[in-house]
Amino acid sequence: MPDFKKIVAANWKMKLNPAQSLELADAVAARFQDFSEREVVICPDFLTLSLVGEKIKKTGLKLGAQDMFWEDRGSFTGEISPVDLKELGCQYVILGHSERRSYLKEEYSVINKKVKAALKNGLTPIMCVGEKEEEKKNGQRDQSLKEQIRQGVSELELGSEQRLVLAYEPIWAIGSGQAIEDSDIQGAYSAIRSALKEVLSEEINDKVFTIYGGSVDSNNVDRFSQAREIEGLLVGGASLKSEEFFQIAENMLK
Ligand code: PEP
Repeated sequence: MPDFKKIVAANWKMKLNPAQSLELADAVAARFQDFSEREVVICPDFLTLSLVGEKIKKTGLKLGAQDMFWEDRGSFTGEISPVDLKELGCQYVILGHSERRSYLKEEYSVINKKVKAALKNGLTPIMCVGEKEEEKKNGQRDQSLKEQIRQGVSELELGSEQRLVLAYEPIWAIGSGQAIEDSDIQGAYSAIRSALKEVLSEEINDKVFTIYGGSVDSNNVDRFSQAREIEGLLVGGASLKSEEFFQIAENMLK
């Protein structure tokens, strides 16, 4: 069994202009000295991916993209090739973020193609799932997660050194300041694990890491680092300040 580590990933979204991204990359690189033993991933926008990659290189921080296309090369205007991401030094790629599902109508049939293409190209997918607020209110959380997982990970194959990172990001928790309650953690993650078991073999399931995202900050990170089910974090807003993100990563990966 490969020695997979807990992971903390920063999703900078489209929050910064290029100068701000590079400034943050400098601050992060200065704060995270020698992180080669820990799995911390920085996902800037495409415009600064390569430059941020250069800046964090010596720290051992990993580079990730926020999306990609499912074909390697061709007439796909505006898209980004997984081959090129790999070449640029990316090791991770966020796929199916709820903002893409909502604003760009990205569906799990498409996300499934991207997940497979990422794996084929040696990138670790961070595939996002999560229920909407009304689904939670109507008691449809588990059903919604099951359907997303069923479509997103169908017919997945993972090599011996590969893993899939599955980020549970309740949509109502993203950027809202309202993270998941402790009392909901066990139920949500057992729904996720049982959905995974229905679709994937036990051998592949051992290589699926379940992480959490949604309003994580340095004040509430303790709750997540103590939860057995949560094997890492995807952090949006709180990853935009180097010290705040450092406190989160330190706490989660201690
Ligand atoms: C995200 O968008 O992936 C996310 C987790 O955002 P935030 O931490 O800001 O809720």
